[in-house]
Amino acid sequence: RVLHLGLTGGIASGKSTVAQRLVEHGALLIDADLLAREVVAPGTPGLAAVAARFGAGVLAADGSLDRPALGRVVFADPDARRDLEQIIHPAVRARAAELLASAPDGSVVVQMIPLLVETGQADTFDLVVVVDVPAQLQVQRLMARDGLSEAEAEARLAAQADRTQRLAAADAVIDNTGHPAELRDAVDRFWAAQVLPRLAERG
Ligand code: ATP
Repeated sequence: RVLHLGLTGGIASGKSTVAQRLVEHGALLIDADLLAREVVAPGTPGLAAVAARFGAGVLAADGSLDRPALGRVVFADPDARRDLEQIIHPAVRARAAELLASAPDGSVVVQMIPLLVETGQADTFDLVVVVDVPAQLQVQRLMARDGLSEAEAEARLAAQADRTQRLAAADAVIDNTGHPAELRDAVDRFWAAQVLPRLAERG
């Protein structure tokens, strides 16, 4: 009915940049990070569940989620982090399924999921697309974008699947070693070579 792409890659690999170009080609984007915020927005059952588990200390004065406070609670406590994930992940998946079901026939839906490989979701897509960069470049771009030290950037990389695991799950790889203009060309080539023929096949 739709062509369903899973888009992933390590932290600061260029996923958002790739997604943006795919949207320019007409794809519909489902962004897991954005949904993870939506499902704990004020007034949601998700936020109520978070407050019930972690207490009013994780709410700001206006009733919204106090992310830094929640971050401090789950940072050092794996059980707390697991509980938080068990609230957020099912809600994100349900919302993503809703958006997918509402996409028009014949559309290309790109689901951007940073931890697609880590969470074992590779089988749920027509095509898994991995944005690939060497770890050293990832660290440089992460430091530049988020103002992190090298050690902080490396710690964030270490919390994810490594490049080999990710590439093993890939049906298509978009290399982002070069300049942004080269990335854009690589996305355009991917669209022409991998997406358009599959759409044509489906009629
Ligand atoms: P995250 O996993 O943190 O959400 P991401 O995978 O979506 O990140 P982007 O935000 O697209 O990655 O890119 C990470 C950073 O690297 C951004 O600051 C972006 O502008 C920069 N960047 C992306 N591609 C290139 C490139 N080819 N050359 C230089 N900088 C780049």
